[in-house]
Amino acid sequence: MQITEIYKSIQGESTHAGLACVFVRLTGCNLRCSWCDSEYTFTGGQRRTLEEVAAEVNRLSPDGGLVEITGGEPMLQEREVVPLMQRLLDAGYTVLLETSGERPLERVPRQVLKIVDVKCPDSGEPDTFHMENLETLSSPDEVKFVLSDRADYEFAREFVKQHSLDRRVKAVLFSPAFSKDARGARDTSYCLLDPRELADWILADSVPARLGLQIHKFIWDPAMKGV
Ligand code: SF4
Repeated sequence: MQITEIYKSIQGESTHAGLACVFVRLTGCNLRCSWCDSEYTFTGGQRRTLEEVAAEVNRLSPDGGLVEITGGEPMLQEREVVPLMQRLLDAGYTVLLETSGERPLERVPRQVLKIVDVKCPDSGEPDTFHMENLETLSSPDEVKFVLSDRADYEFAREFVKQHSLDRRVKAVLFSPAFSKDARGARDTSYCLLDPRELADWILADSVPARLGLQIHKFIWDPAMKGV
């Protein structure tokens, strides 16, 4: 499979935020979100076999723990990444899959914890969510909306309501988008939507969502890769 990087860091998002995690970042994405902070994954990378990837994960975290399969869009390499996820599960890891929601997910092993995006209008990739993926979601999974403005928030609020998302999954995440030009300041000044405003909206509407911040962008320079 084509791999951009494998590294160990602190998980910055989801209900696993704050925990040590090995990230396996696959190369390539078929979407072009306006605020994407992973454009360096679109091309390049190195060919690595399943055995090489599993060995590197084991070197970084020999005693098990969290592994996140991410990208780019990892499910573009489904033929190789599904056996990788199964291998890591069999080795005792807790496996997270971070995916855009555009690719079918029915062949993802059941024990993998899926963190599935639903792209909002301002991402520039609206209507890309593969609706059949709703049926693959189960109680350990999470659904994430990255929000840039009020219109995104209203889209997300209505999607959650219409599909009773909070009853399908462990967590519905509402996360302010970060400017892809963010660098230096480790604060909310580069959030495209002020988290405080988002908090007010969630509270006013009693939305069953968890406000998520990408905590790695408050720990390290937001422009830093490999963290
Ligand atoms: S799906 Fe993810 S990697 Fe692909 S363009 Fe959007 S944010 Fe970037």
